[in-house]
Amino acid sequence: MAIFLLIKPAIKTFYSLFNIKVLTIREREGGVIYENSKVISIEKKNNKFHIHTSSGKVVAKELVIATNGYTTSITKQLVRSIIPMNSNMIATEPLDESIAKKLIPKKRGAFDTKNLLYYFRLSKDNRMLFGSRIAGPQDGTLYEKLRKCMLHVFPQLKESKIDYQWGGKLAVTRSMFPHVGKTEDGAHFALGYSGHGVSLSTLMGQIIAENIAASDREKCSLEKLPLKEIPFLNQRGLILSLATNYFRLKDLIS
Ligand SMILES: Cc1cc2nc3c(=O)[nH]c(=O)nc-3n(C[C@H](O)[C@H](O)[C@H](O)COP(=O)(O)OP(=O)(O)OC[C@H]3O[C@@H](n4cnc5c(N)ncnc54)[C@H](O)[C@@H]3O)c2cc1C
Repeated sequence: MAIFLLIKPAIKTFYSLFNIKVLTIREREGGVIYENSKVISIEKKNNKFHIHTSSGKVVAKELVIATNGYTTSITKQLVRSIIPMNSNMIATEPLDESIAKKLIPKKRGAFDTKNLLYYFRLSKDNRMLFGSRIAGPQDGTLYEKLRKCMLHVFPQLKESKIDYQWGGKLAVTRSMFPHVGKTEDGAHFALGYSGHGVSLSTLMGQIIAENIAASDREKCSLEKLPLKEIPFLNQRGLILSLATNYFRLKDLIS
């Protein structure tokens, strides 16, 4: 078992502890984790995958591709089937318990019903974690926009400092459902969680593990969904921007 891991500092999300826990278990069970090993190309020869990475080559009987919003043309069939989208978050400084209690009394995670929704919750140390799928270059202006969105919901946070800001990519498929299965050359894949990948990717991981252990097992409904290409692939940026503006307008008038 080998796991390639390419984590950019700007892309750490708030549940990275969960990932670290899973990887620690893998290592304890004899798995080898190659960090910062970018996969450059994949070849199928004599029924084996030859995986060329920035730090060496691995030959494997089974290959799992779990690149979701970061999928590139290394896996052509997969990159044609997703639209990558950004999601970004900010975290305020720790708030006084009395203020935090007023903002979200039961400290539940919450999101609104807009198409381009806001999602938020309090951290253990009472920081407001606030996120949205607003578009734009990942610089200060984007996070200032996000702060304004937060103040629209919680004007009480006007004086609160923003301690952290970060963002990353998620993937949307044509069906808007996640897909799990095998590529044309037999590599396992799972992607397209539309922003709900924390639990869904874990479930897909289990499905893939079961498929590797017993390839004749009965397929679940998600595995039967055909993965369809996104039309007008070259115009994906334009389509995304039109769709974002359409949904923004819809949110404004509803
Ligand atoms: C700001 C933000 C907030 C989010 N909040 C939530 C939430 O509250 N709940 C929820 O369910 N989901 C949330 N999501 C979505 C969730 O993060 C994703 O759905 C989930 O991470 C998908 O997991 P994954 O393992 O499939 O892909 P990822 O976690 O995206 O991992 C893909 C990995 O593939 C690596 N990779 C890509 N190409 C290569 C290559 N050539 N070689 C080696 N490695 C490569 C990338 O570096 C990356 O580490 C959020 C996303 C963001 C960005």
